[in-house]
Amino acid sequence: MKFTELGLAEPIQRATISAGYEEATPIQANAIPVVLSGRDLVGCAQTGTGKTAAFTLPMLDRLFQSLPAKTPSQPSGRRRQGPPGARPRTLRALVLSPTRELASQIGDSLAKYGKHTPLRYAKIFGGVSQHPQVKSLRHGVDVLVATPGRLLDLMDQGHIDLSKIEILVLDEADQMLDMGFLPALKRIVSKLPRERQTLMFSATMPPAIRRLADQWLTDPANIQVAPVAT
Ligand code: AMP
Repeated sequence: MKFTELGLAEPIQRATISAGYEEATPIQANAIPVVLSGRDLVGCAQTGTGKTAAFTLPMLDRLFQSLPAKTPSQPSGRRRQGPPGARPRTLRALVLSPTRELASQIGDSLAKYGKHTPLRYAKIFGGVSQHPQVKSLRHGVDVLVATPGRLLDLMDQGHIDLSKIEILVLDEADQMLDMGFLPALKRIVSKLPRERQTLMFSATMPPAIRRLADQWLTDPANIQVAPVAT
């Protein structure tokens, strides 16, 4: 299936063209319409299947289509978020990933696929100084990519407000459980609005992942694609 047939907004479609993509991969052809419709999704797919674009493209589309209007003037007495005429920025999407390498890759994809939109993202992960990450959050972002431990740290320090999240993505959920992130994930999910869209991707579907999907997702579509040939 061609990207032009998937109903993505023009600036996002244009980014797939500049990336050199013509045909959507199977996970993309199946997942993109589901995510665009607002439905929850469980995707069983490995790295190399194009799963990152399968969730980042429709997620950016939804955020782009519902961008708040520009504010002509700022209310007096409140700290302004950016210059007059700028859009107020609210953190509306959260992508959780097990490792900083994956978080970086997802961040690169957001930059690539969102480059023709005004959407902004930040990535946060452990093992490096938190200061540049906190600074990037202060400017206001629409999408945050994070590893669970550093996210909790920054939440506990009051740097991150998850109360306006509309879309949650759990990427490589099986690996996050293997790495012992379940308690962190539970704390993070408890801070999110109940009404949201949740997408869960995992290379394998052990019972523990199924149970989490039952708890955290509502009537999800299930999509499974064959592992990439090695
Ligand atoms: P992923 O499975 O998300 O890690 O993606 C694997 C690689 O495939 C990445 O380098 C993407 O840039 C590339 N890719 C994703 N979707 C497509 C597509 N539809 N056509 C060609 N390459 C793609």
